[in-house]
Amino acid sequence: MSSPSQLMELTPLQELAQSLVNCERCKLAKLGRSQVVFGVGNPHASIMFVGEAPGFNEDQKGEPFVGAAGKLLNDLLASAGLSRDQIYIANVIKCRPPNNRDPEQDEVETCKPFLMQQIQLIRPKLVCTLGNWATQTLLERKVGITKVKTQAFYMKNFVIFPLLHPAAALHQGNLLETLKEDFKKLKEFLDRHSKPTQPTNAASTSAAPVLNIESSQPTQMDLFGK
Ligand code: URA
Repeated sequence: MSSPSQLMELTPLQELAQSLVNCERCKLAKLGRSQVVFGVGNPHASIMFVGEAPGFNEDQKGEPFVGAAGKLLNDLLASAGLSRDQIYIANVIKCRPPNNRDPEQDEVETCKPFLMQQIQLIRPKLVCTLGNWATQTLLERKVGITKVKTQAFYMKNFVIFPLLHPAAALHQGNLLETLKEDFKKLKEFLDRHSKPTQPTNAASTSAAPVLNIESSQPTQMDLFGK
């Protein structure tokens, strides 16, 4: 039988979150953030989404994508047959930049190792990067999102699937249709790579898709002229 202290044991992901609660490694700690926004969702998710940085609402609530962009993301996820409890969502940087300015290079460099640790602990098969920051940070290439969106990049341990950032469609209404089309392509990718589901019972209907992605596919780094 478990002792109370065993029951209180934190998972490595929870330990990582705990270790960052009072993080002061970069200047954002002193530039008005209310809290570190670590990430939320299914710690065993096969699909992870990565955004840029917390905004006002995320900073207040302590969760990524809870503002207007988050509401749109929820609709787009639903269109791809996904719900928030099936996936994990985090940002490249975990603290809100003042006035929602872009992250700065030193902030990304300081925070990126924690994103990589999250990915290592969650072990998703697919990482959907939302927008330029997340895409360039994980691909480690300065490449425009419009050029690479909806293409699968086979990394050693997971596949990167870049998508436009939902906030882009909030600022530029004409991008909404593009974003919806792109999430259709995500659904097609998931359908192509999902293992057939077992006969369902009530509990399994909300289970995350089980993805069958081989990591040995050719990389597409030649896209970058490499
Ligand atoms: N935009 C992001 O990139 N991340 C959030 O958490 C919210 C908005």
